Amino acid sequence: MITKKEKGQIIVLSGPSGVGKSTVIAELLGQQPNISFSVSYTTRSPRTGEQDGVNYHFVSRQEFERMIANDELLEYAEYVDNYYGTSLKAIQERLDAGIDVLLDIEVQGAAKVKRRCPDALFIFIIPPSFEELSRRLHARNTDSEDIISGRLEKARVEFREIPNYDYLVINDKVSNAVDEIQAILLSAECRVTNRSRILAQFT
Ligand code: 5GP
Repeated sequence: MITKKEKGQIIVLSGPSGVGKSTVIAELLGQQPNISFSVSYTTRSPRTGEQDGVNYHFVSRQEFERMIANDELLEYAEYVDNYYGTSLKAIQERLDAGIDVLLDIEVQGAAKVKRRCPDALFIFIIPPSFEELSRRLHARNTDSEDIISGRLEKARVEFREIPNYDYLVINDKVSNAVDEIQAILLSAECRVTNRSRILAQFT
């Protein structure tokens, strides 16, 4: 029986700042060895604890603009005065090897991926309520009131893009959000179009 995937799947995950996306992603990747995280390129500075090549590839604006000019990016966006983008080559190699690739990207980048790769899976993560998002941002205790209200305002703008996504995952509890994503991935894997090689034996 053929179990190996014929081609990897692009999984796009978006959600507002403070929703707990990184925790959900870390848990999901721990459970799913066949998913590879796309390490983005960014011009923003590393935060405490972030490692180059692990969380992001941290590059200069000049280097990022060179990548844009050379068409090396599947998508990119400017977000809060910095560039963020996905390397086309890095993900293509993994998809060809039958490995799923997870992109943690914001809504403008996701819209570009949708235009170029309509078969990708588009998942948006929301908190159980807007009040809960505000509570989580305050609980971090790292940002001023101004920054927090800026993030909440940005979240409202991002929520308007939800109808362009395929799935809405509610992060009331990390394990529930991960379960919902696992269910989405399993159903996507069972699509007839994803099983053409197995199906060929029966037709
Ligand atoms: P942060 O600076 O908090 O790590 O990320 C800010 C935003 O940029 C998040 O919404 C994150 O999903 C998004 N982001 C990270 N990498 C990429 C990327 O390669 N492309 C796009 N379009 N957005 C990204």
